[in-house]
Amino acid sequence: MRLTRLAKASAATPRLIAGAAREVARADRLGTIVAAAFQIVGATAALGVVAAAMLTFDALLEPEQAAIGLTPALLALAFMTALSGSVGALQTQQHRLLGERVSQRVWDRVLDTTARADLFTYESSGFATALERVQQNAVTRPFMVTTALLGLTGSLLGVVTMSAVLVGVEPLLVPILLAAGLPAVLLARWASRTEFAFAQRLTASFRRRTYLRQLLTQRPFAAELRAFDSTRPLRERHQTLNGEVTSEMRAQVRRRQLIAVLTTVGVAVALTGALLAIVELVNQGRIDLAEAGAAAIAVRLLSGQLNTLFTSVSGLIESAPFLADLHRFVASGPAAPPPGRKHPLTERIALHEVSFSYPQQDRPALNSVDIEIGAGEVVALVGENGSGKTTLAKIVAGLYEPTTGTRHWDGAAVPAPDIRASVSVIFQDFVRYQMTLRDNIVISDGDRSASEDAVTEAARRANVLGAVRELPHGLDTMLGRDLDEGTDLSGGQWQRVALARTLYRDTPLVVLDEPTAALDPRSEYELFADVRAVLGGRAALLISHRFSSTRLADRIYVLDGGRIVECGTHDELIARAGQYAELYSLQSSAYR
Ligand code: ADP
Repeated sequence: MRLTRLAKASAATPRLIAGAAREVARADRLGTIVAAAFQIVGATAALGVVAAAMLTFDALLEPEQAAIGLTPALLALAFMTALSGSVGALQTQQHRLLGERVSQRVWDRVLDTTARADLFTYESSGFATALERVQQNAVTRPFMVTTALLGLTGSLLGVVTMSAVLVGVEPLLVPILLAAGLPAVLLARWASRTEFAFAQRLTASFRRRTYLRQLLTQRPFAAELRAFDSTRPLRERHQTLNGEVTSEMRAQVRRRQLIAVLTTVGVAVALTGALLAIVELVNQGRIDLAEAGAAAIAVRLLSGQLNTLFTSVSGLIESAPFLADLHRFVASGPAAPPPGRKHPLTERIALHEVSFSYPQQDRPALNSVDIEIGAGEVVALVGENGSGKTTLAKIVAGLYEPTTGTRHWDGAAVPAPDIRASVSVIFQDFVRYQMTLRDNIVISDGDRSASEDAVTEAARRANVLGAVRELPHGLDTMLGRDLDEGTDLSGGQWQRVALARTLYRDTPLVVLDEPTAALDPRSEYELFADVRAVLGGRAALLISHRFSSTRLADRIYVLDGGRIVECGTHDELIARAGQYAELYSLQSSAYR
């Protein structure tokens, strides 16, 4: 059983090495060639050291028969030793650059995958966990693989040349040293398996710890954490996680230390065996002292090369599961959607019998929902927390596909990328881009060439212009303090910037999920007193808890537990004296 596994693993190793080599070469072709050249120079220099040593011993022991004198022999030895030493240092720096390029390539592939993943995939927990694991390793593994690959090439060259030298002296020395490598490879397999299992066991703890570190360090959380004095309990949780990680890591480090000791002992035993064999050969008179001296140096060098060879192979074997994990991740998720095409809205978007369930949730978030939004209409969605408003908004915006039911745009089933291209959304938890105000606006439509007029128009509609005048560099002011260089805005100002962003993306339908939650009463009044002018003829789906804004809608849908329970204008719903009327009177009684 173990043997079959081993055989399978050994069969997979050349494929893995070839695959990794391809990745490295693709990441930086020139860098790879330079690094390979260093390896060749290194191996040649090592061979030169042995040859010069042999000449030196000859000149010392048998000056009459020596090919060259002692001084040139010593100079050659010094030169070769210096060359082989300096190549190492140059290589290390070259590897750094190559490692960075490989890491960039791996990151590009990870980012391609995350960009391709739709929101539904993103929200399934398996995806997040796999992403976290890949992210943690994407930073370190490519460098390991690059170093291992280059080490492998160099040491292979070295092993071949040194073996050739030793075969010339005594062929028996080679198999003794090579045999010492076998246990090292087996031990590397073991190390690799324990390392991957260790990483898998700890992914969840690492994620939780990273989250706590964000909470404890990042600016958006600083105020609340201090107000509740919750730094201490959060630090305690962090400490507990640290404890878990430490104890797991201690066990893993002990395993790896054991493996390292076993590997080193194996190599040392082989080295001693070979040196004893040389002594025996001299005793038997089969080789002379100069040959013995050169052989001893060659054995030492070969042993060093073998060590690098085995370390490189173990490094590659150890990285194999992580690379496989990366490839699985990159291959996972749906294919990249085709680019969306914007459609005009001439009649309506209509959802019919739409139900939707989140991944790993038994209860559907939406159940047989029918709604429609006509061209230019303002439609409101009200309901208590958790009734499904945001979920429904995301389906309207093409971010989720209905689990069952249909979504028709002007009577036709339009693909989701087209829907996304035809709808703008502002979410409750909109993003505060730590970029200039202009970038905060134009980022919603990267394809459009940013004309000053269009940006100013969006800013005017969203009532950002007043704020712009107060900013030190106008539209080009950096916003936010996260990167330590910008001007921060108030919550309401940020919300207006987000609204400007939504309006800048020129689409026939906008979805506004709580667009006024952070606005002061005057701003909210101004926005809704003339909401149709702000929208400039676009249709809107408006989610709001403020009935002062929803009452202006052409039609209001009331959601409860994922179902539409009422529908009509404000007056119709009040007359009906149902849930809407109840919520409305609850809210207005607060003002009476
Ligand atoms: P609302 O916007 O009306 O507050 P939501 O649409 O956000 O309601 O949520 C509707 C239901 O779906 C709730 O029960 C909520 O717990 C659930 N839900 C929302 N988002 C997710 C998610 N990403 N994964 C699983 N369940 C979710």
